[in-house]
Amino acid sequence: MEVSEYEKLLLYLAENKYEEAATESEKRRIWKRSKIFQIDKNKSLMYINNQEGQATVRTVITRERRKSVIKLMHTGHLGRDKTYEKCNSRFYWKGMKQDVAEFIKHCPECQSQNKKTKSHVQEMVPVSFPPRVWGKVGIDLIGPFMKADKKKPICKRGYRFGVMEEIVSDQGGEFNRSRWRI
Ligand SMILES: [Zn+2]
Repeated sequence: MEVSEYEKLLLYLAENKYEEAATESEKRRIWKRSKIFQIDKNKSLMYINNQEGQATVRTVITRERRKSVIKLMHTGHLGRDKTYEKCNSRFYWKGMKQDVAEFIKHCPECQSQNKKTKSHVQEMVPVSFPPRVWGKVGIDLIGPFMKADKKKPICKRGYRFGVMEEIVSDQGGEFNRSRWRI
């Protein structure tokens, strides 16, 4: 909402008056619009939202104050949806969702965090076909499982085909530990 509109509504709700220069149609428009607003004890304009018999009241924010409000609601660099939810539960202006998305798109901290996350995504590398049975073994960790009665080491099975030559993993950090190194 523009400051001028905010002031017109405030004037009407506080003093039941219109601006001196207001035309009849302008007066009618303000009168109609004023029905969804009220003033709180601090003389701030509040938006009344009536949904399913439940009225919620939120502070109206003028265009000039939007950025500073989003910045405050984005404290801790919350994600887009959480920042919007927080903002929307207390404040009102049209186009809030887009404004929040735009703000976060240009937040330097969030952007650098995104880059860091993206840099962890490794390129897919095609795995060549193994030269013989048990020549190449894929390995991954899944679980937890229930305890087995007997422990059967995987290598026992492997020896039937000879010693494995290569193990392929999905770059899981577990395989970088010393006990996994071969
Ligand atoms: Zn951020």
